[in-house]
Amino acid sequence: MLKTMGNEKGTIFNIQRFSIHDGPGIRTTVFLKGCPLGCVWCANPESQEPLPQLMVQHNHCTACGKCREVCPEKAISFAKNNRRRMVWKKCRSCFRCVDVCVQGALTIIGQEANLDDVVNEVERDRAFYTSSGGGVTLSGGEPLMQPEFAVLLLTHFKERGIHTVLDTCGNISPEILRAALSHVDLVLFDIKTMDDDLHRKYTGVGNELIMENAKLAAGLVRTWLRIPLIAGFNDSVDDIRKVATMACSLGVEKISLLPYHPGGKAKGRRIGRQSMSFPAKPPAEKHIARLLDLISAEGMSASVGS
Ligand code: SF4
Ligand code: SF4
Repeated sequence: MLKTMGNEKGTIFNIQRFSIHDGPGIRTTVFLKGCPLGCVWCANPESQEPLPQLMVQHNHCTACGKCREVCPEKAISFAKNNRRRMVWKKCRSCFRCVDVCVQGALTIIGQEANLDDVVNEVERDRAFYTSSGGGVTLSGGEPLMQPEFAVLLLTHFKERGIHTVLDTCGNISPEILRAALSHVDLVLFDIKTMDDDLHRKYTGVGNELIMENAKLAAGLVRTWLRIPLIAGFNDSVDDIRKVATMACSLGVEKISLLPYHPGGKAKGRRIGRQSMSFPAKPPAEKHIARLLDLISAEGMSASVGS
């Protein structure tokens, strides 16, 4: 049985108030760090590592050299043109360089957070949840990579009468998912592709467990499927029809299409992420409209965004 007490701290990388894309109404979205997938198109690559990590912003750097002086791992050097260079594999995330950078060119992504602090932050907007039919959403990364903390948060929100949404990639143990779902009003369940080989190639894992968990979730709570829509990868009529057919058979409420945007590429470079070449493109608006019609024709509610 999942232990749900004793770990009252977790690692988060953002709390976003007034979110309107992570479930119904106005919501506060809590982003937990760590993900079991490594999707090459990820819009939030800084979510994937479970621990706090260094992020650089080259255009803020004045080449003062202080970070190089304090780095015990010699991970920072300067090129002849005075441009700072990072050897990411040497970095041990001690963050001494962050302490000396007065320009804000070096920042830490992710921080340890207490349960009470997160709950209090979410409570600030209770009036908006009530008036809009909103609440709190746990997202990531994969929130259930920190199962004790995530379940504890969900339990506290439910006890306070706050509507709870879990945004999950689905690649987690069914036991953990089941424990979380008993405190969840709505699941946003990501489906990348029904093709197991493609899934494995571009996320690092196959989709068998994810498909089993989609069935589990839809059998227990209200479920919306979310598809990150990438031109030429998972946006063919055939791809989307397969997801719609599965969604109908599982009895999910809705499919949300989330068109790819390239914001994650620049962030990936700033955290030293090495990822395989993947020419991701957003689908054309006309094509998205066609896919929405296709899903509706299968008898399923559909939208762009959530
Ligand atoms: S301390 Fe900051 S401003 Fe100075 S060289 Fe390092 S990154 Fe650039
Ligand atoms: S965080 Fe990385 S780059 Fe910065 S001082 Fe520590 S080891 Fe060096």
